[in-house]
Amino acid sequence: MKPLHQHDCHCCHYLGTVDDTDLYHCGQSGYGSTLIARYSSDGPDYLSGLCFSQSGILRIAANRAIEQGHLSVEDWRRAAYINGYIPYSDVKRLMQMSDDELRETFYSTIQQLGDKRNRIIGDTAYRIMDRRKS
Ligand SMILES: [Zn+2]
Repeated sequence: MKPLHQHDCHCCHYLGTVDDTDLYHCGQSGYGSTLIARYSSDGPDYLSGLCFSQSGILRIAANRAIEQGHLSVEDWRRAAYINGYIPYSDVKRLMQMSDDELRETFYSTIQQLGDKRNRIIGDTAYRIMDRRKS
């Protein structure tokens, strides 16, 4: 199997194509390791992030990366926040927020650091903002 679309990172391991979407695991990322789902050859036309791999196409990429030994289950669990305290519906809600809403969520949750779920929500909001900048 070969990728359908152009992808310019030489550090990526191709994981196969599902529904016209090329899946990759990349070891070269600011966060250590990430998963990528590329929809077309157009540069920005992809989804990425271990923290968004709880379900959907990136979950398929996660399973394959784990099966092929590129990613450990422990690293994936840690990065994907699937320790049982942040449901994917929360991640989805955060992804739909504007930058201002994300910033507000981040600042309001860091005031309640004792609460594990709030801490993860704040951290996820921060990561989403950070990704949008690049
Ligand atoms: Zn890469």
